[in-house]
Amino acid sequence: MSQASPAYQDLPSVAGLLEQPLTVALQRRWGRTVITNALRQALSEARRAMAQGSPVPTAEALLIAMEAALEGQFTRGPRPVLNLTGTLLHTNLGRAVLSPAACEAMMAAAGAVDLELDLATGRRGQRDQAAEALLCALTGAEAAAVVNNNAAAVLLVLNTFGLGKEVLVSRGELVEIGGSFRIPDIMTRAGATLREVGTTNRTHERDYAQALGPNAGLLMKVHPSNYAIEGYTSEVSLKALAALGERHGVPTAFDLGAGSLVDLRRYGLPAEPQPQEAIAAGIDLVTFSADKLLGGPQAGLIVGTKDAIAAVRANPLYRALRVDKVRLAALRATLLAWDQPEPEALLPTLAQLLRPEIEIRRLAEALAPAVEGRLSEDWSVGVVPLESQIGSGAQPTTRLPSAGLALSPRGPKGRALERLAQTLRALPTPVLGRITQDAFVLDLRTLGDAETLLAALGEHPLAP
Ligand SMILES: *Cc1c(COP(=O)(O)O)cnc(C)c1O
Repeated sequence: MSQASPAYQDLPSVAGLLEQPLTVALQRRWGRTVITNALRQALSEARRAMAQGSPVPTAEALLIAMEAALEGQFTRGPRPVLNLTGTLLHTNLGRAVLSPAACEAMMAAAGAVDLELDLATGRRGQRDQAAEALLCALTGAEAAAVVNNNAAAVLLVLNTFGLGKEVLVSRGELVEIGGSFRIPDIMTRAGATLREVGTTNRTHERDYAQALGPNAGLLMKVHPSNYAIEGYTSEVSLKALAALGERHGVPTAFDLGAGSLVDLRRYGLPAEPQPQEAIAAGIDLVTFSADKLLGGPQAGLIVGTKDAIAAVRANPLYRALRVDKVRLAALRATLLAWDQPEPEALLPTLAQLLRPEIEIRRLAEALAPAVEGRLSEDWSVGVVPLESQIGSGAQPTTRLPSAGLALSPRGPKGRALERLAQTLRALPTPVLGRITQDAFVLDLRTLGDAETLLAALGEHPLAP
């Protein structure tokens, strides 16, 4: 006896579904193509289910399936989340939190602006002029240039001075930064030959001097930002390296990674290399990120001598790596903050970095009962001491005393923590924390106020 084949003809048509009020509303938001594709996906899943013996789904069920398909594919992208992971500069979460002034500047720059027009003369201007003037004022450099990110800054410097030449780097500084950015690989792509100098733990001035051949194009130092070599170590001072380069007519470069425009010891934190120190020591080119400790938008900053920066600007790659008006506006606003007596009052990321533990603990104590009330009865919420980290390779060994909430299952743990993490990620404003041995932990250093978290968790008890 042959089985009746599924009644596919009873399924609603794509054209019919496109006329339903819900899909009409969704088309206004996502466009006709996206909604049509999502409907086709829902229909093909329905056919698969019918082939397994399921009945013909209702139009309503198909629309729910379509919304799920939409959620999966088209609604991703930069949308606000609550970063309570305890890592301040989280590369996966967009690193620095921009200041209100930077946000206003981005809005103001959205329309037509004097990006490459000198309004005084009516002639062509240079797009990163304002940032250059500020960077020179803040670091003491003669000139500066802004590119897409610090990886681009390093690539540009290597390509400008190392193309077809040798670049000397200490063996202790052949860094890999997350996301497959390795100094030796970037060097190859820049057309430069890496000349390793010294050993992993100790590199002396004579090591550089011995390796300085006629084909040397650049003497480079890299701040080993995401690791620390301890014990019997030695590196050449910036002054000595600059002097050596000067004697041999070879330019010097220092890649700082994060770089800090103020001495972090002023805030009781360990020292972080500062661009102004490298400039004062006589280094020709200094590169650092705008979205790490600087607390600005993604950009790579190159400061240095007039000649060195002029060579960088003359490289055709500079044009390919340049920054748009919106980011330049945010960068300018961020740099302006660093020249104020209390930049921490203006820059959210710096404020989070310096937030006193006692203030974070009070916020946690105030929030714990309310957060417990938003979860099902299977969960208890307690206040725990935590340690936050800066992230993005800045000061990898620095731990900032912090506090937060530990969400623990009352019953057996099983996969409860993973399920809770998933539920919180699926909220309209996703809440991101981390899973420890026996709790799901929210570090509140980066939470502005109690209301923000409660609003994200919503009114109904979450029952993961
Ligand atoms: C982070 C880092 C980079 C890359 O900077 P991006 O802004 O991520 O492009 C390069 N060098 C060092 C030492 C770094 O720490």
